[in-house]
Amino acid sequence: MKNSIDTKCVQGGYRPGNGEPRQIPIVQSTTFKYDTSEDMGKLFDLEASGYFYTRLQNPTNDYVAAKIAELEGGAMGMLTSSGQAANFFAIFNIATNHDHVVASSSIYGGTFNLLSVTMAKMGVEVTFVEPDCTEEELNAAFRDNTKCVFGETIANPALTVLDIEKFARAAHQHGVPLIVDNTFATPINCRPIEWGADIVTHSTTKYMDGHGATVGGAIVDAGKFDWMAHADKFPGLCTPDDSYHGITYAEKFGKEGAFITKCTAQLMRDFGSIQSPQHAFYINLGLESLHVRMARHCENGQKVAEFLNSHDKVVHVNYCGLPSDPFHKLAMKYLPNGSCGVVSFELKGGREAASVFMKNLKLIAIETHVADARSCCLNPATSTHRQMTEEQLMEAGIPAGLIRVSCGLENADDLIADISQALDKI
Ligand SMILES: *Cc1c(COP(=O)(O)O)cnc(C)c1O
Repeated sequence: MKNSIDTKCVQGGYRPGNGEPRQIPIVQSTTFKYDTSEDMGKLFDLEASGYFYTRLQNPTNDYVAAKIAELEGGAMGMLTSSGQAANFFAIFNIATNHDHVVASSSIYGGTFNLLSVTMAKMGVEVTFVEPDCTEEELNAAFRDNTKCVFGETIANPALTVLDIEKFARAAHQHGVPLIVDNTFATPINCRPIEWGADIVTHSTTKYMDGHGATVGGAIVDAGKFDWMAHADKFPGLCTPDDSYHGITYAEKFGKEGAFITKCTAQLMRDFGSIQSPQHAFYINLGLESLHVRMARHCENGQKVAEFLNSHDKVVHVNYCGLPSDPFHKLAMKYLPNGSCGVVSFELKGGREAASVFMKNLKLIAIETHVADARSCCLNPATSTHRQMTEEQLMEAGIPAGLIRVSCGLENADDLIADISQALDKI
């Protein structure tokens, strides 16, 4: 019997046996006990599966990771302490010193910085391409040492929609996997693996938690990429790992298990960005209602976008649910049931108008956050991007009067009334 995604949200990942807890147990333990050192030794050699230290793996995390993997239609998943750690691990697991990554330029600022500054210092080069580039432009970005392609289903904050099939085709033609950050769409609205993506990442901090309570991340591997067929490109997966007695991940764990096992065994071991079991439990509470909440976030986003789109103090609105949006056609294909609750719009009157508008909002709070049950908003020019000049802002496609609103779960009429009265004050 194949369960629908709604049922997977509620019951996926953890299936209690007779007399076991109905809710997932929080295994609040750093360590695990064994009868013999031979038993424990097998775990250290990756000869047996089991738990020995929570810096690498914990049962609570694994229940939640298994649920997210089920939701995405992947083979295996893992949790990380943040979305930043998820994206770093997903990329660094296959692209290291002297390697190269092709990435959409329309991605989260933190990931842009991770690739263009921090990973550059580690010797990983990146070429950014426009999300709506032609297939020729995309293919031209690849080099002999390219190890993966990266993009976001719906980009934060630009709200562009990735043509996943186009990016997957180019990646596969060059013998590398496509990694898609699916944070904004969530698997409720898009499952990138169904469109050819190989690895999916999440900031679970956003809709998956959905209550502004817990920072976290997740990585899901589709288990479809044939590492051994491109063994020269992926020595980390296809040649023996001396730090685990010479096992070869792609041989020992196959297509389904190699990527996540290596990521856990090497990167979690050495960088230690594990999610805490307590926080994994909170994320699971969010997941139990994800399918119910996403519908309301999208309904509110659509209504607010339509209201703003017809207001004379607004220059333009970015929301792929609007037929006038340049990404509407892609949204119809990849996001037929809705996109997300995040809407951005430019106010006439720039920075000053934005400041007056935001000051007068009563329900919608000024926050550096999105995808919360409570609506919030941000003016990049006076917050996240305040070091930029007016000209730099225009170049980056972030006009001074741009405001990003994350529509929460409140009543849409109340949100529109709040926005309306604040617009009147300008
Ligand atoms: C927030 C976000 C991240 C970073 O996640 P954290 O949990 O804040 O570390 C990565 N990608 C996207 C698309 C995001 O929105």
